Order: sequence, then structure tokens, then C-alpha cells
Amino acid sequence: MTPVVTSDGHASLSSSDRKTDSSVSGHEPLSWVSFYNVINGNLETTKETRCSINPATEENNPQVPVATQEDVDRAMAAAQKAFKPWAAVPYAERQKAVLAFADGLEAEKEAFSKFLTQEQGKPIHFARMELDAAVAWMRATAALELPVEKTNDGDKEIIVRYTPLGVAVGIVPWNFPILLATGKIAAAIVTGNTIIIKPSPFTPAGGLKLVELAQRYFPPGVVQVLSGDDNLGIWLTYHPTPAKISFTGSTFTGKKVMESASKTLKRVTLELGGKDPAIICEDVDIDDIATFAFLNSGQICFAIKRILVHEKIITKFRDALVKHTKALKVGEGNEEGVFLGPVQNLMQFERVKGFFADIEKDSLKVAVGGKNPGGKGYFITPTIIDQPAEDSRLVVEEPFGPIVPLLSFATDEEAISKANNTFYGLGASIWSGDIARANAIAEKIDAGTVWVNCHFEMDPRMPFGGHKQSGIGNEQGLAGLKSYCNSQTLYLRKISV
Ligand code: NAD
Repeated sequence: MTPVVTSDGHASLSSSDRKTDSSVSGHEPLSWVSFYNVINGNLETTKETRCSINPATEENNPQVPVATQEDVDRAMAAAQKAFKPWAAVPYAERQKAVLAFADGLEAEKEAFSKFLTQEQGKPIHFARMELDAAVAWMRATAALELPVEKTNDGDKEIIVRYTPLGVAVGIVPWNFPILLATGKIAAAIVTGNTIIIKPSPFTPAGGLKLVELAQRYFPPGVVQVLSGDDNLGIWLTYHPTPAKISFTGSTFTGKKVMESASKTLKRVTLELGGKDPAIICEDVDIDDIATFAFLNSGQICFAIKRILVHEKIITKFRDALVKHTKALKVGEGNEEGVFLGPVQNLMQFERVKGFFADIEKDSLKVAVGGKNPGGKGYFITPTIIDQPAEDSRLVVEEPFGPIVPLLSFATDEEAISKANNTFYGLGASIWSGDIARANAIAEKIDAGTVWVNCHFEMDPRMPFGGHKQSGIGNEQGLAGLKSYCNSQTLYLRKISV
């Protein structure tokens, strides 16, 4: 599909290119046997291939390409070539194309969900939720309007407009491989950029299929995807062509991305790690906090990673938490009633097991869990450690798995100080029946998102991003759109001739 340039110099998608609900339903379903890089609208394989591992069975997932530097160069050239014509397509047309892509993904929801469980490990009902969230995020992004700001100053009109940056690269982690790719694609594309997606080597196939699907809605070169080995992220972030890197992943890698991007002053959005505290005041009676610590097996950037409970209720609260946690079923994602699937990959499995090794080494008190099942698959039992030392690894680092410390506080000041005692600043939640008190605590927390009496609430119309070393910039909302744009200020002075 190619944009058509009209007589007034504007570009538009030809009517046959615009996909509506009905035309989408007319498409052949995607095939889930072969997986390709997508370069300039073409599905390509590579000489060398590799595969990820199903974390529940340890069986091989399908083979995927291993992109070379030459593939990167060709994708960059195609993205650069597609940029100007795509940027010239009117905003409303680009919005329609993103909406059509969202409809197309929704039509393929079941196939994507099943594959997500196989590749990523998450239980099938959570996989379906990821797909629903991906579709909703794309639709919400497409519904946003980029403002043109105007001011008058005497004889001058001053206009601020937002123009696309050029070629973007979207680097995606393995915990929400579809959701996080769609968020990057929608924001980049609606604002008139082109984008190359790099899925995680641990979950490459779903991301490849997503971009294969996107070819039905966008011209060649507008949305591309490359799967590869550990070299690929470096090649993409060093490459001189991109104007922007949108990275979601660990703080450790985020720093490397920023360093590579600095060579040509690429814009960066960095969505990084977190160590979210939940502050539980003494006036609440809740036992389902465990849900927010153990969903996706704890592999969520803004999962609760420290539970801070008022000392007056800590024993009662701990007992309720233990009871709730014991009821959470661990298993393969298609088994009935499973809440925790396996940890996603062997590297992560070994890392999380390292925190279990600390239990014996540091004589930690286990409230629940503490021993892992063994056998096939990267399964970890949800575990709560009762009041470890404030400087223990479990309190300071992000395990990114289902093990969480339970800590206590005596005053609100102490809770705030403990909550902020981290170089992360992604999210936090405050739980209290006294809303004024909860709000007062919330305002003193150094985090990009703070919830009161809830956690995980996410509205794609609102900005999301980290304070401190949890990131730079925002995704979602108008701030997310503007992160793919340059601002241009025009001073228009009228003179009489
Ligand atoms: P990771 O940093 O290991 O990898 C993320 C991506 O970066 C992968 O695609 C990887 O291949 C790529 N990569 C690795 N080295 C690179 C390099 N030198 N240059 C460019 N790219 C490179 O992270 P992960 O283990 O996949 O994901 C888990 C982390 O992501 C956790 O810390 C989690 O908190 C964070 N995360 C943050 C958010 C957020 O929105 N803030 C969301 C999800 C996950």
C-alpha cells in the first residue's frame, strides 16, 4: 500500500488502502508456522535462525530470524524513504490507519493470546488481557489530537506545532511483548514517524507476527521489525539514521541505550525498572495486595515490590496475606485456575533463584513460599519474606519475580522515607480509609505514578513514566505523542507591502 499524493500536495492513503472493520474480517487469518523479519513490506528470513524456549515446558518455540548488520542498514534505508510520504499523510488518515490496525489485532486476539502463553508463559486469561490492553492503548492513542498552540503578540501570531522526528526504533522487553510493542507503534505512527521494532530475543515471535499483521494497514517501510541476537540492540541504537529510541527494559540496559543514542543525539524515551512500595496504613483491612505483587509472576515493572505495613497491624495483615498467597495456583498457563505461570526465561529464573539462596545465607524469615517445585519449567512459588533488613538485596534490588519483602513503619514520615529510599521511582500505592492522609502521603512520594487504594490502574490517555532511575520521558497520553515530535515555534509577523 502506498500513500497517494493529491493535487494540493498532500498525501493520503488511497481508498483501497483504508481498512475498515469489514475489510479486516475479510482477511485470511495469520499463519503461526513461520516467522519473519519485515523489511520494506517484505517478509524475510535469514541464513541463520534461532528460537526462544517455552518457559513452562522448556521446549523450543518456532525458529525466528537473526538479523545481520546488512538487514539493519536495509530496514533503516526503507524507514527513511517511507518517512516523508508517511509524514505527509494527513493526521486524520493516520489515525484511521492505526484504528484499523487495532481492529485487525482484535480480530486475531485469540491466536495472539494462545501464542503469548506458549512463548511468554503467562496464563491464558492474562494473555487475553494483554491483547485487550494492546487494542485499547492503540485506540486511545489514535483518538488523541496533537495540538497546534497559538498566541497573539502585537503584530505577530506565534504558533507552536509538533512535527514528526523521522525514523524511530522501539526496543521491547519480554514481560508484555505485544502490549509494549503496540504502544510504541501507535504513538510513532500516528504522529507521522516510521518505526522499527526490536522484540526481546526471549519473546521474538509474537512481535514479528504483530508487525507482519501491521503490513495490512501501513505502507512499506512505515512499520518494520527485526529479530536478532544480542548485537541487534547495539546496531540499532548506534545507527546514524534513527532520530528516536523508545526503550522499555531494565535500568542497566537503559543506560547503555542512552550512551549509544548520545553519539548522534537521538531522542530517548526510557521506561525502566521499578521497586514500587505499597504503603498500608493501620485503618485498612485488605488481603489481596498479593495480587499486585504476583501478577505476571511478579514480572511487571510497576508490580508491588515492597509491602510497607503499619506496625500496629503487621501480624494480622501478614497472616491474611499468607492465606491469600497460598491460594494462588502456580502452573502451565493453559491449566484451569492458574494465577502464576513460569518465570519467563532461564536467565531470569536463575536470577530470581539467587534471591531464594539469600534466604538461607542471610537467615531470612519466610512468611509463605520459600521452596521451589523443581522439575520441568521455570516455576517459582510465590514467596513473602517477613521483615528482612532494610539493606538486604531483596529490599534494594528488583528481583522481577514472585518474591517480595514485607516491611513495617510506625509513622507516615517513616513510611515516606522508606518508600523513597531507592534509586527507582516508577510507581507506588497508598492504602488508607482516610483519603486526605493517603493523598498527603502520595504527594510526597518520588514516583511517576502513585495510586491511592488501588494499584495497576492505567489509562492510556494519561502520561506514564518514571522518576529518578526508573526512566526518562513518558509513554501514553499527549506527552507520549509529543515524545515522537519536534516542537517548532513560528513567529509570524505581518508587514504591509
Ligand atoms: P532488558 O533491559 O534486559 O532488555 C530489554 C530489551 O533491550 C530487549 O529487547 C533486549 O534485547 C534489548 N537490549 C539488550 N541489550 C541492549 C543494548 N545494549 N542496546 C539496546 N538494546 C538492548 O530488560 P528485560 O529483562 O527484557 O525486561 C525486564 C526489565 O524491564 C525490568 O527491569 C522491568 O522493570 C523493565 N520494564 C519496564 C517497564 C516500564 O514501562 N517502565 C515496562 C516493562 C518492563
